[in-house]
Amino acid sequence: MDYIKNYIEENKERFLEELFELIRIPSISSLSEHKQDMIKCAEKWAELILKSGADKAEVMPTDGNPVVYAEKIIDQSLPTVLVYAHYDVMPTDPDNLWNTKPFEPVIKDGKIWARGADDDKGQGFMHTKAFELMVKTNTLPCNVKFMIEGEEEIGSPNLGKWCDENREMLKADIILVSDTGIISPDIPSITTGLRGLCYWQIEVTGPNRDLHSGLFGGAVANPINVLCDMIAKLQDEDGKITVPGFYDDVLEVSPEERELLAKAPFSEEAYKKAIDVKSLKGEKGFSTMERTGIRPCLDVCGIYGGYTGEGAKTVLPSTAHAKISTRLVPHQNYKVIAELFKNYFESLAPDYVKVDVKHLHGGQGYVCPIDLPAYKAAEKAYQDVFNKRPVPVRSGGSIPIISAFEEILGYKSILMGFGLESDAIHSPNENYPLENFFKGIQTIPMFYKYFVEK
Ligand SMILES: [Zn+2]
Repeated sequence: MDYIKNYIEENKERFLEELFELIRIPSISSLSEHKQDMIKCAEKWAELILKSGADKAEVMPTDGNPVVYAEKIIDQSLPTVLVYAHYDVMPTDPDNLWNTKPFEPVIKDGKIWARGADDDKGQGFMHTKAFELMVKTNTLPCNVKFMIEGEEEIGSPNLGKWCDENREMLKADIILVSDTGIISPDIPSITTGLRGLCYWQIEVTGPNRDLHSGLFGGAVANPINVLCDMIAKLQDEDGKITVPGFYDDVLEVSPEERELLAKAPFSEEAYKKAIDVKSLKGEKGFSTMERTGIRPCLDVCGIYGGYTGEGAKTVLPSTAHAKISTRLVPHQNYKVIAELFKNYFESLAPDYVKVDVKHLHGGQGYVCPIDLPAYKAAEKAYQDVFNKRPVPVRSGGSIPIISAFEEILGYKSILMGFGLESDAIHSPNENYPLENFFKGIQTIPMFYKYFVEK
């Protein structure tokens, strides 16, 4: 590993200066006034990949912001790693909470301070420099392709179509992504799962108009009361969701992996204290971490109807509404779940109300099996650099584009992140420790080595 450390040591000032060139371009995808910056940032990144040793690097149009595509093919018969990252960033507001200017990167206390320092310019650029390192030290063991998009922070609305149109060009064996984190600087981890999502909007209608609750109350069903009864039936006492067939496709996690997941440090006391609750509630038979990581859940996100203004106004309302979501786990299919829920919820409706269930949107979950050779390669790479076996972590959140890659391209992604909770991504004072940046550049070439050896 000495050649890796030496190369980084000799070039680290330049690595940072190049990263800062990217950071200084305010590529905020959600604000249309930055349209030109998106193109500028894509062009800059393409130029930097080309200089790092790619055969070609180009800025390709999509229906939205362009994608940077680059490749180095050393031998068609060797495996290909497809690197995914994003050059767009979140807006910076509230600007008055920043201690430094968001697009003028500063190094202080061993960290880079700027919007995009971690998410995802810092993390994405580690791959560009690890690639350069392998090219310049003649240690690149396989083909590499880069796909760097400019719309991740607004939900990647055009990348799926672009991938579908460029399937042949994107042919690869694995997708490598650094856009997640590790548990702490000395506890490395790899995100192995993301939850999917399904969302509904519900309308319950009773009488044809709001009624006087004195003249009609007690004789006519109140749609809000009815909606609450129906919602109460969606979960049983053990915290199980009662929709028939809901758990049919849930991937059960092996005892071995549950044991590994349990190694992630977690304090239930601190967790309760942070959100100020006396006790926790969830599905029986699973730990708190498992309830958010490997099990689905159902939540009412909003409920409204009747009088909600100041003071008291008696009324027996005509309608009641709720917004309900589920977080799904592999291999639940959100389209199937959308139908199962709709049918079940409508079946709960008594004949004195009408119920309308609308499916608003959804996305698939994602899982990377821990016995996948590419996962094993990542595990060994972290082990080499951090001297500790990384903990597999199932995230409760969703990154829809990762499951879309699997659906459209058919490849698994390895979520080799190096960020920390304290990096404050999406918030004022985003930062990225230099140590994580350089450890990332050290770890990535080891992944390539083990991935090709497998
Ligand atoms: Zn990101």
